[in-house]
Amino acid sequence: MPSATSAIQSKLPKVGTTIFTRMSKLAEDYKAINLAQGFPEFDCSPDLQKLVDKYIRRGKNQYAPMAGVMALREGISQKVFAATKTEYHPETEITITSGATEALYVAISTVVNPGDEVIVFEPAYDSYVPAIEMNGGIPVFVTLDPQYEYIDWEIVNSKVTEKTKAIIINTPHNPTGKVWTESDLKQLDFLAEKNSLFVISDEVYEYIIFDDLRHVSAASIPSLASRTFLCGSFGKTFHVTGWKVGYCLAPKEFTTEFRKIHQFMVFSVITPFQFAIAEFLKEPDHYLSLSAFYESKRNIFNEAIKDIGFVLKPSEGSFFQNVSYKNLSEEHDLVLAERLTKEGGVASIPLSAFYGEETNFRVLRFCFAKNDDTLLRAAELLNKVVW
Ligand code: PMP
Ligand code: GLN
Repeated sequence: MPSATSAIQSKLPKVGTTIFTRMSKLAEDYKAINLAQGFPEFDCSPDLQKLVDKYIRRGKNQYAPMAGVMALREGISQKVFAATKTEYHPETEITITSGATEALYVAISTVVNPGDEVIVFEPAYDSYVPAIEMNGGIPVFVTLDPQYEYIDWEIVNSKVTEKTKAIIINTPHNPTGKVWTESDLKQLDFLAEKNSLFVISDEVYEYIIFDDLRHVSAASIPSLASRTFLCGSFGKTFHVTGWKVGYCLAPKEFTTEFRKIHQFMVFSVITPFQFAIAEFLKEPDHYLSLSAFYESKRNIFNEAIKDIGFVLKPSEGSFFQNVSYKNLSEEHDLVLAERLTKEGGVASIPLSAFYGEETNFRVLRFCFAKNDDTLLRAAELLNKVVW
């Protein structure tokens, strides 16, 4: 249809369709196994499904309160207190959002004004930078070392200017699987305090953490918590990425401003699902068993691909395994990811998609949130690839 108005002046001129959507489509077109977009292949618990049914039948089908169903806010407050000893008041400091994506977007909108700089670690989850730019902010990148072994705090420090308003962190980290240590969080706390920065902490993989490592939440350090918007999601925790139920925890004054934007963005979040999650959350085993479940999948996948010649990067948490193919091919990661999907039958995500500038570290990200037999079939196909 020809447009009847003048051309739209794009707010996001550099942005196209996300790499996750593109690789999932390619996987579908070529009937490849989709280890690209991060979502579980398996279903959520039947008990959780029954709870949704129960609350729909009970008539919990109208708007939820703007800040979220109180039972869910109370449940989140209790679980966070049990893990961190920090108390978030359900009435004034917890907001239920449409997934972590909305929580992150609204948190960024709450603090970023035109011209403000925001420190972002690269490789970065894809929603941070557009959210900063939509609010007139300027992303300032700190590139993680390619082995993902440490955070160089001197470099982070050197990026702070008088325009720096906030810093975004993500632990466990997508796409690398890196888990931040207590020392990292303490250094962050020091830096944020010294420069009076807001912190946006993306902790959506908080319960998926391996090798006896421990998730250190921004909420566990009181001074850090007092300057942080903590964004979480039930998508990963209960295998329900399609439900888009997340949350933001932040001090009262932050939450007041956060809700002003949230209420005009979505107003409130799907009601019966909030009731169902609130009830399911009462049993801690429903989320505390997740690390062992995914660690076994990581190990099955890694064992099955170990003879291919990839260099396996450390995957300390999340449901991603990064592999370097530097000993196998010179190809650009985007070219290789497409070739592996079309000819090899396995879709992955090229790591360069998580950087603002053109890079090619020759690394692919595989998602192992799949049934064991899917992981083994994918590994078998990868073992047959001619390099
Ligand atoms: N942050 C990270 C690091 C993610 O990987 C994802 C989703 N995969 C999100 C945020 C968004 O979470 P949600 O699906 O709850 O919006
Ligand atoms: N977070 C998922 C990933 O990293 C994708 C989510 C999305 O498609 N937006 O693969």
